[in-house]
Amino acid sequence: MREMTEFLKREYEEMEKQGLTWVIKSLNGPSEPHVVVEGKKCLMLASNNYLNLANDPRLKEAAIKAIEKYGAGAGSDWSIAGTMDIHVELYKKIAEFKGTEDAITFQTGFAANAGLIPQLAGKGDLLVSDELNHGSIIDGVRLSKAERAIYPHSDMAALEKILKEADKKDYRRIIILTDGVFSMDGDIAKLKEIWKLAEEYRAMVYVDDAHGEGVLGDGHGIGRHFNLEKEIHFQIGTFSKAFGSFGGMLAGSRDLIKFAYNKARTWLLSAAFPPHVAAANIAALEIVEKEPERVRKLWENTRYFKKEIESMGYDTGMSETPIIPVIVGDSKKAKQLAERLYQEGIFALAIVYPMVARDKARIRNQMNAGMTREDLDFALSVYEKLGKELKII
Ligand SMILES: *Cc1c(COP(=O)(O)O)cnc(C)c1O
Repeated sequence: MREMTEFLKREYEEMEKQGLTWVIKSLNGPSEPHVVVEGKKCLMLASNNYLNLANDPRLKEAAIKAIEKYGAGAGSDWSIAGTMDIHVELYKKIAEFKGTEDAITFQTGFAANAGLIPQLAGKGDLLVSDELNHGSIIDGVRLSKAERAIYPHSDMAALEKILKEADKKDYRRIIILTDGVFSMDGDIAKLKEIWKLAEEYRAMVYVDDAHGEGVLGDGHGIGRHFNLEKEIHFQIGTFSKAFGSFGGMLAGSRDLIKFAYNKARTWLLSAAFPPHVAAANIAALEIVEKEPERVRKLWENTRYFKKEIESMGYDTGMSETPIIPVIVGDSKKAKQLAERLYQEGIFALAIVYPMVARDKARIRNQMNAGMTREDLDFALSVYEKLGKELKII
């Protein structure tokens, strides 16, 4: 019977041959601009911890206090007996922060998409999705019985064509789904145009702002950035990126929230996240509101690093946010550069096929509000040295 699982080994080895396996390097302490990775001191350029909140003493203190008051776990599904008053306090806080009527949380952003999308649309409906949307949106769409259409990345003419075709058919409802900030390229969804098309063709808009929260719209996200916070029908987000903690969120109308917690299976049939996670999330939102200088510093770092690395001759693609990829071409070169960066004390990740096109392999750099000018200059000097060494620039 043992041989039945031989395929696991074969498939892994096949992936390994193509250089497609993850080799995990673990951190020996908190995630901050200066980290220790497998015993080596590094500047962190690979984390989503944009506002440097992951090790903030106020988040830690809130979490510790909540553990003392509520214990280590929630004890049950959200729907049965796992919702504590601190979760409800967080819902209110999110709604305020996002400028919506109501909100709830999910275990993760992934769980929010996977659980909600299949409930929003079914037989007789159409889901229209950007080709570069996050995998959790893709999976949510796959779990739905609705018809689906994929448009080339941010191609508004293609989106309009799909909507025009759809207009001739008798769909019950149409939902356009998009990332707010695209995670591999760091470009912003054309939400104004998407919104206009949605209005024209009577479609709804679903935005997953995982990389936009804490970054765009003074930290409030893409809704605020485009002045559409009251308009977007479905707003998904996460506490695991700029907010430095953990957990998914959904913000929108009261009707949406009631619908979601009665229908989304990842909410109904899965445990509430621990109370200390809720406490840290509340603390994070308060800090982002109270300390706008964090978001400003993040953008200052972003502008500086992008300008300097471009002037060396690196290609940053479509980047317009703190996600600043340097596109180097083939997978081997990207991996080689990542390894050399690590040796020189920079932790940044190679993103290769199939996550991006074969000839668009890259290193993804992510900025952090906690980095100083010296940190950035150090990173830039290493990039200059290695770019020449590997004949990229
Ligand atoms: C990171 C990300 C997620 C996943 O969020 P988690 O809370 O970590 O599960 C979902 N959607 C998008 C667009 C993301 O970038």
